[in-house]
Amino acid sequence: MSEQTRFEPGRPVALRGGTVLPMDDGRRVLTGTDVLVVGDRIAAVGPGLPVPDGTAEIDATDGIVMPGMIDTHRHMWQTAMRGYGADWTLTQYFVWYYLEHGKLFRPEDVHAGNVLAAIEALDAGVTTVVDWSHGLQTVDHADAAVDALRSVPGRFVLAYGNIQRAPAEWTAAPEFRDFVRRRITGDDMLGFQLAFDVTGDPSFPERAAFEVARELGVAVTTHAGVWGATGDDGIRLMHDHGFMNAETVYVHAASLSADSYHRIAATGGSISISTESEQSAGQGYPPTWAIRAHGIPVSLSMDTSVWWSGDLFSAMRTTLGADRSREHMEAHAKGDTVTHCSLRADQVVDWATRGGARALGRDDELGALEVGRKADIVLIKNEHSPVSFPLLNPYGHVAFQAQRGDVHTVLVNGRVVKHEHRLLGVDLAAARGQVERTVDHLRTTMGEEAWRQGMNPDVPQTTLLDNPYTYTDYHSDSTHTRRESE
Ligand SMILES: [Zn+2]
Repeated sequence: MSEQTRFEPGRPVALRGGTVLPMDDGRRVLTGTDVLVVGDRIAAVGPGLPVPDGTAEIDATDGIVMPGMIDTHRHMWQTAMRGYGADWTLTQYFVWYYLEHGKLFRPEDVHAGNVLAAIEALDAGVTTVVDWSHGLQTVDHADAAVDALRSVPGRFVLAYGNIQRAPAEWTAAPEFRDFVRRRITGDDMLGFQLAFDVTGDPSFPERAAFEVARELGVAVTTHAGVWGATGDDGIRLMHDHGFMNAETVYVHAASLSADSYHRIAATGGSISISTESEQSAGQGYPPTWAIRAHGIPVSLSMDTSVWWSGDLFSAMRTTLGADRSREHMEAHAKGDTVTHCSLRADQVVDWATRGGARALGRDDELGALEVGRKADIVLIKNEHSPVSFPLLNPYGHVAFQAQRGDVHTVLVNGRVVKHEHRLLGVDLAAARGQVERTVDHLRTTMGEEAWRQGMNPDVPQTTLLDNPYTYTDYHSDSTHTRRESE
């Protein structure tokens, strides 16, 4: 029987005997536990479950069964240029994508990036992704983005944006309203948000766009607290005009004052942390260490594959590292020693699952393994990996030991989309062909020189310090020897 037939839609699925992380308030760990899926829902969780006739069984022993992960901020269109900007800062990003390169993306290029990003997410057990789609220069681009998301069996939220025009302008366009009517049908697999940034201009030109979001009843997601781009002024304007609410998602929130955090906390919004991004692009220090004291809900995101990895294992790992690193540094600056870490592995697993569900207002249905919830499930298991045992601390294992290659099985909305490390119902060859055509288009349009320069920003000069130990015979000998061998 082929895998496709074995997991035909509608057939119940049972994951047998795994270590289940239900992601409940008690942070329980259920060993030797089954999860039964019937239709699009979790029907039962427990040991030795009786199952309906014809249930497809998956052996989850020696594996971890957890909710599908949720990424609340990913510029999926940019995956078409995977890895190109590895050595960028935000400065190169702004020039290349917003002023030069981003403009060259045709609808089919947005489609190519989105399809590949969507497949990549599923492969890594990320079952819901917010497509922070700020490259929608025309409605044709937006149609292409939705076509792409609809072609891959994941759960997505289109966060509609257009960096080339002012938010008040594109949200007022009749063709935008028409797009919303045509394509956003309110079904469970495709949510909708508005994506734009608030510059801090005292005249608050973004007001009209916020009013459109309010009228449509959709959340706004906004890059807030990005060094040199958005900051406290934007937060203050949003707050003073009454546009901060519990659905608002603040991306990065990395260079904000305590006053802004108070405003976010008081209005109930959440922060999407992209630690890998904040660490190298320069938005500000990943802020989990600072927002802890404000009680602001957190979700995780990876931002863009033009630089970083599209899995949330990396996000969990770097977030733990950045938070603990800062906690130690702050203590050392006062002559203190941290003896107990504040941020725990189970907390980042919570942020990667429940935190995302909460940020999207879907915490009654997603982000936890509980009877009646949507069956978005990941099995982490790799019999061929020496890193798969001993499995002593499952939360720690997810956060620090596991990686995308260990994602054995993925279900979205009750459908098996990956099994035994292979994606089902996904045409990777077609996705590759599309992305290759996009890369050809971008490269030939930009020209070889610009293409090369964009990928290789200048390296700042390092001035070597005077070193008192260089004035010894030892060093002059070694210098001499080195010169001779050159
Ligand atoms: Zn972003």
